[in-house]
Amino acid sequence: MTETLDIKITKTNHSRLQETDFNNLQFGKTFSDHMFVADYENGEWKNFQIVPYGEVSFSPAISALHYGQSFFEGIKAYKHADGQVSVFRPDKNAARFNKSAERLCMPQLPEEIFVQSIAAVVDVDRDWVPSKAHHSMYIRPFMFATDPFLGVQPSSTYKFMVLLGPVGPYFSKTLRVKVETFFTRAAEGGMGYAKSSGNYGGAMLAGKRATEQGFDQVIWTDAKNHEYVEEMGAANVMFVLDGVLITPSTRDTILDGVTRDTVLTLAREWGMPVEERRISVAEIIEGAKTGKLTDAFGAGTAATIAPVGSISYNGEEYFLIDPKEREFSQKVLKELDAIKYGRVADTHGWNYLV
Ligand SMILES: *Cc1c(COP(=O)(O)O)cnc(C)c1O
Repeated sequence: MTETLDIKITKTNHSRLQETDFNNLQFGKTFSDHMFVADYENGEWKNFQIVPYGEVSFSPAISALHYGQSFFEGIKAYKHADGQVSVFRPDKNAARFNKSAERLCMPQLPEEIFVQSIAAVVDVDRDWVPSKAHHSMYIRPFMFATDPFLGVQPSSTYKFMVLLGPVGPYFSKTLRVKVETFFTRAAEGGMGYAKSSGNYGGAMLAGKRATEQGFDQVIWTDAKNHEYVEEMGAANVMFVLDGVLITPSTRDTILDGVTRDTVLTLAREWGMPVEERRISVAEIIEGAKTGKLTDAFGAGTAATIAPVGSISYNGEEYFLIDPKEREFSQKVLKELDAIKYGRVADTHGWNYLV
């Protein structure tokens, strides 16, 4: 982070801040006044700009639209009681951004450009970072192919953009989830580990069917036999079984979540036994039946810690203990908040101050 990016800033002359209702924020619907844009051309990143949030124009032939050369990240910024604003672990997202780029034959974006562009646009719109409890600023960096060419081959030009939007708590209720045994999110050799746009379009039908059946989320299982647990919706999944925090080990079908890593790090520091391994659906169901499954939750930036209330499998619904009585997820959620909002010392260097 030796050089600072040369960013051209054009500010809006009509801020929407005053007319925004911060008491009724719906995830992904409210955007701040500005956004970051950069172009990739002739093998380099250029034209770093912060401009008023608004429409962008491109050819209708871009391969982002036709062949899915497109991916994204999700990060959050938090306002501390003293007014400081911090972004949570953006270096981890920068690394994952480049893994996604590699998988989709898209260009690498140096970590310092990624982090500085985010810091710069958050700084311009810092008044948009909510100060209400459990609220934050969602940051959506993304890259897409822009060659006006219908051939199925990697584009030679791209755009990198960052959007910002204030958000409230994502899931407030306890989730009723089902183990998905028909649809597949990611297969071996595929792109499940990348935050590739196509993964989400491909997952929507399973989510829609589950919603029609009265569920809030699906627990994804392996593509081969639907025998092992992989993720939950667009979050990682974690359980406490027999006093051990367990989560599926990362592999090419699993997104290596920042929240997952953060929770595992804290648990290990607390001396909790932790296992990253293959987890069968059978052992989770057995644990639910015997009461040895004392905690289950989704972990992700948007959802933070999303408690699972019941798990359905083959038409049978298994209920877990009340989330308020779960020792681990309550403790970890509290600690995560304390760190992100600057209420305790940031001993891991996770908060990037803007
Ligand atoms: C984004 C995402 C996660 C969570 O990752 P975080 O870095 O914790 O936000 C988990 N699984 C999928 C499929 C995701 O898209």
